[in-house]
Amino acid sequence: MAYRVAREHRVYSFSRRHQPVLTVEPGSEVVLETNDCFDGQMPHEADPAALEHIQPGRGNPATGLVAVEGAEPGMTLVAEILDIACAERGIVYATDRRTNVLEVRIPAISGDAVTFADGLTFSLDPVIGVIGVAPSYGEVPNSTPGRHGGNLDCCDVKRGAKVYLPVGVPGALFGCGDVHALQADGEVCGMGVEVAGEVTVRLSLLPEVYCPWPVVETTSHVAVLTAAHTLDEAAHQAVDAARTLLVERGGHSDADALILQSLLCDLRINQIVDPLVGARACLPRTVLPALV
Ligand code: CA
Ligand code: CA
Repeated sequence: MAYRVAREHRVYSFSRRHQPVLTVEPGSEVVLETNDCFDGQMPHEADPAALEHIQPGRGNPATGLVAVEGAEPGMTLVAEILDIACAERGIVYATDRRTNVLEVRIPAISGDAVTFADGLTFSLDPVIGVIGVAPSYGEVPNSTPGRHGGNLDCCDVKRGAKVYLPVGVPGALFGCGDVHALQADGEVCGMGVEVAGEVTVRLSLLPEVYCPWPVVETTSHVAVLTAAHTLDEAAHQAVDAARTLLVERGGHSDADALILQSLLCDLRINQIVDPLVGARACLPRTVLPALV
């Protein structure tokens, strides 16, 4: 039986100061009801002026936080994404980067389709935007990605993926939200198809920190996710951390790791719109079969 956390239990930052709303044993399944990135404050009509009326400080709510028994700093929390269900209506408030003009769309979500009013239809492919644990180093607003996770906005965080997060505080204090029914690398207009949802995860623990940054494991690759003030900086952080993983977890020499990265490791952009921008280095399973 899975635990459930209702959408009433939301936080707008990751911090040890938040009391857990639920404590589970490692290996537990948890269903988290999530609000959209506007915390449900936006009307379901396309109204650019509505943005002016939302309460500040309520962006990107994460449902939780959930404590895991036995989690301590120096360990890794693994969140296996078992399912992501989306509500029936999404929102896109797209900011034109050249003019700052807002374009608003309210797509319908039904079955496996995301359909816009003009008839454009795309396949539903949900992503979790915000997923993280309380950091060891204070409080991070949910707008911002970091070593604790947070606003990762990474297209690899989908059903079937495992997200590895370095535990920063006792209990880990896990939360997630900001589901996107659809999102591309870069998230260039500022958001995906923002939608309320229901996320099912299995939370477990590993005894070590395998990487000081969030890592996402998919069927095809292992991605190291970094965040910095510039893409240059984030890219170099991702490449460096991935090289260390290739040596420490993949058994490659440092020289081989350098070469393998250049030949086989895709360097991708998660998003360029959050207070810190995000990159990821994707190591194919051929050079890093599994993280653990
Ligand atoms: Ca986001
Ligand atoms: Ca979002």
